[in-house]
Amino acid sequence: MVREINRIECENGIKLLMALHDDVVIEVAFFYYCGSGMNGTHICMPSQVGCPVGCHFCATTHAVLPYIRNMTGEELIEIVSYVLNICSIKGVHIDILSFSGHGEPLLNLTSVSRCVQHFSDIIDRFYITTVGIRNNFEDALRLSNNVHYFISLHGSSDAERHQIIPDHPSIATMNDLRQFSLSLLMRGSQVTFNYMLTPDNTSLQSAQRLADFLSSFSSASVRFTPVFPTSISSSHVDVDGNKFVAQFKELVDPKRIKFRYSVPMGSEIGIACGQMRATHLKQTESGGHIKIF
Ligand code: SF4
Repeated sequence: MVREINRIECENGIKLLMALHDDVVIEVAFFYYCGSGMNGTHICMPSQVGCPVGCHFCATTHAVLPYIRNMTGEELIEIVSYVLNICSIKGVHIDILSFSGHGEPLLNLTSVSRCVQHFSDIIDRFYITTVGIRNNFEDALRLSNNVHYFISLHGSSDAERHQIIPDHPSIATMNDLRQFSLSLLMRGSQVTFNYMLTPDNTSLQSAQRLADFLSSFSSASVRFTPVFPTSISSSHVDVDGNKFVAQFKELVDPKRIKFRYSVPMGSEIGIACGQMRATHLKQTESGGHIKIF
């Protein structure tokens, strides 16, 4: 049985800290979007207890216990059911189930796939956010083409990517990601590229390399975001995102390449990935008190 041990609520969403049967903790969030080109209700789900990837900006990486284990399919289903129950009480319908919380979904595809199948009659859309685990691309391609993939490039070259995502033989190269994305598009899945803006990937050369990468696609969508500040990862950096995006805009055909520069919502409830879990682990390690519902 999963159980809720803490929650933070704001006008547009809720973030929950949940304990699994072996008392390890995960966090899950859901949001009601309206305006800024986005509408609907969105669950932001974890796929693992922590995450082994270790992206430098991520609060999960800086937690006392960065990674423990994969979540089971049953745990994912139980957590989503718990959130759906809250939504039903509040009278909101969930449109999107997004595996974009802590964990790398391609490292736990069996459980993620089981959860997607379980809710496919109830939830309209499924998102998977991945840094790209090259050995698991074939399995990912077998997943339903109802899944929209968000591929975290975070750089215009392998060297830039590794400023954020640690270099490891399992982590896909830019070339791997190009092939994977083309294969996804060919089988009818949607793909959006995530690009987190840092001082290391926002030069004019970066904009040119990114435009070159995207030239392989007949159409593509890119989402630029700033690094989200958290007290855990202390990785907030000031970057002139507007300047970079303006340079990028000059290099691409706007009919072919769609892009958006947006600050993620939810700072009031600690939206950054892994933030609530990392804070909980820090407080319990130092003897701090967590309110138990
Ligand atoms: S950003 Fe995602 S893949 Fe990277 S460490 Fe955090 S949870 Fe893992």
